[in-house]
Amino acid sequence: MPGNAKLVPSICTECPAGCAMIVKVRDGHPVKHEGAPGSALCMRGQASLSRFYHPGRLKSPMLRGQNISWEEAVAAIEGALGKPGPHAFLSSRTTGALSELIDGFCQKRSVERLPEFEVYSYAAIRKANEIVFGKAALPFYDVKQADFLLTVGVDVIETFANPVQFAHDLSEAKLKWVHAESGLSLTGINADERIVIPPGTEAEFLTNLPEKVATALKNAKRPLVIANGSAALPAAKMQKALNSPLDFDRGLDYSRAGTLADLDKLHGRSFGVLFIPRRRSGGVPAKFRRDESRVSYRLWRFDERDAAEVRSGVAVVRCAPKTRCDAGKSRVVGDADKCSGNVPAEGAGAGGDAVDSDI
Ligand code: SF4
Repeated sequence: MPGNAKLVPSICTECPAGCAMIVKVRDGHPVKHEGAPGSALCMRGQASLSRFYHPGRLKSPMLRGQNISWEEAVAAIEGALGKPGPHAFLSSRTTGALSELIDGFCQKRSVERLPEFEVYSYAAIRKANEIVFGKAALPFYDVKQADFLLTVGVDVIETFANPVQFAHDLSEAKLKWVHAESGLSLTGINADERIVIPPGTEAEFLTNLPEKVATALKNAKRPLVIANGSAALPAAKMQKALNSPLDFDRGLDYSRAGTLADLDKLHGRSFGVLFIPRRRSGGVPAKFRRDESRVSYRLWRFDERDAAEVRSGVAVVRCAPKTRCDAGKSRVVGDADKCSGNVPAEGAGAGGDAVDSDI
């Protein structure tokens, strides 16, 4: 019935928290994002609706700057996959059905699934927890069980772990909340007390707490300390000593997430096809993108940030410099013996530069 809206359950992918959401669809068009019943979306999740209607949104796959059909794109990918590998898949954090789907694809097509890349991998917290608690995991911080909360440098309302859950739980928690940070954040604005510390001194702050904070921690019945980076280890030691309300069974699953060191290990490796699904906040570090010269073909699903760079397609296949002929021309995807006649500028693409859309 025209005008009738239907509600479609989905997942917000704006950050690794992956909040459950409901998309209101009217006449085939999404018109509103809302949190699933009992949940909510943050500002970013709400605003993500604008992605659908962004004027720079890519509407079809592209090859060498030209629109192509999905059939042509799939054929190009098939052709590239048929060539010698190794082929690899580098994604950001995935969970549930999507993760299983990617696993199945990689298994079937002999594609290596690399450790997932996340800017916020919580590697320091996971390592600290492995040392202190014997669990390399990001726990659920049960702020509703705490009567005193000390957050150091972590922006729990905007970016840390599951910001929506934190915002919700903190609105109901009955606790005294002290937040230490170097730059003003929404978290700092909402805390009962905000302490300004110089950047990079989070660990030092935790090991030399101001007397009033140390006393408050000592007098609390269920104190909770949350910190990341260099302060993760001292925070974990304090959590253990204070018996902080942590729940390792309810934390976000980051077991597939790698670290920047894992990404570094890719340097020096060569790939046939490297799949990089839509990048999330931060994207793949420039250091790694520079190394894409070792990738024969790159398949990339673009979002509007990428579109601004290349106005390219949903699936992109690009010859890297090492596959170019002596004249420096690119090869037609799927046909290594043909030349595209599209001569990229000298050095273009050698740094994984997406503007070089010889795809
Ligand atoms: S915290 Fe916000 S951006 Fe992240 S998944 Fe949830 S709604 Fe989306």
